[in-house]
Amino acid sequence: MKILSNVPLKDKTTFKCGGTAKWYAEPADFLEFATLLKLHKGKLFVLGAGSKTICIDKGFDGLVISTQNLSKICFDGDLVVCDAGVKFENLQGFCIKNALSGLEWSAGIPASVGGASVMNAGAFGHDFAESVEKVEIFENGKTSILAKKDISFSYRNSSLKNKVVFRVWLRLKKSSSQEVEEEFLKFAEQKQKNQPVCMGSAGSIFKRQENVIPAKIIDKLGLKGAKIGGAEVSTHHSGFIVNTGSATANDVLSLVELIRQTVHQKTGVVLENELIVLE
Ligand SMILES: Cc1cc2nc3c(=O)[nH]c(=O)nc-3n(C[C@H](O)[C@H](O)[C@H](O)COP(=O)(O)OP(=O)(O)OC[C@H]3O[C@@H](n4cnc5c(N)ncnc54)[C@H](O)[C@@H]3O)c2cc1C
Repeated sequence: MKILSNVPLKDKTTFKCGGTAKWYAEPADFLEFATLLKLHKGKLFVLGAGSKTICIDKGFDGLVISTQNLSKICFDGDLVVCDAGVKFENLQGFCIKNALSGLEWSAGIPASVGGASVMNAGAFGHDFAESVEKVEIFENGKTSILAKKDISFSYRNSSLKNKVVFRVWLRLKKSSSQEVEEEFLKFAEQKQKNQPVCMGSAGSIFKRQENVIPAKIIDKLGLKGAKIGGAEVSTHHSGFIVNTGSATANDVLSLVELIRQTVHQKTGVVLENELIVLE
């Protein structure tokens, strides 16, 4: 397995900006992944599809391990088992082919299965936790399997944070391929209508809280379209910051800070970041 140096993470994240990883590897299988995890003693970051992550412009002075080659999906009895690097797009194709319902809400989310379980990705009132049955993790030099009851999932968060996810077992319902495909298309259309899906971003920047919908507050305070350098509060969806083409990570993070300070000063609400900053 090659370990590369000074790899630009703008090519590996959906924000399309930011610095480099000092060391970078894409293990081909779990043996290589586990070997790296056992041998590496310094700073470490496991990268899925990079759709919630931004790396500061100065770069990350450690090892980034990408799960992108860990991409197998198969059946284990009546459960579906996915390697951590399986992209949602491919999982959706698998669901349509095998007439499996339960993940239609996830259409258009550019996640990996590992990232989605750690972040408990969700939309339209559903989340990934609904379908998760068990998770294989790597911790203290060995793998173990956590049953759903041993994992705490909450809004865009889980107790899997700071663990390494290898594989995830999902329980989905038998349906018809046509129905599943139609539902995926319906949700994908809604996403396209309401979100800037064609621009560099990391989805919603701030978490929803009880009685707090960040996009609504940002809109109300006139911050829609606010810009710092190449980063802009999306004119399509105020909960997103988009890269207009030339954004640096510093532009994005300065805009995040500007929004947080303005919202706090004018409403007293402290917005909580959903974006993962690699530094
Ligand atoms: C256009 C767009 C739309 C989006 N819409 C939504 C939406 O509707 N709902 C939603 O919830 N999110 C949405 N997102 C955000 C994003 O897709 C999710 O947060 C997703 O769960 C992140 O998965 P990832 O694999 O890209 O994670 P990454 O960005 O790669 O990583 C995120 C975190 O997970 C950790 N991680 C990743 N893989 C592993 C692993 N195998 N083991 C341990 N830790 C791991 C990373 O270390 C990091 O802390 C959107 C993003 C974009 C760009």
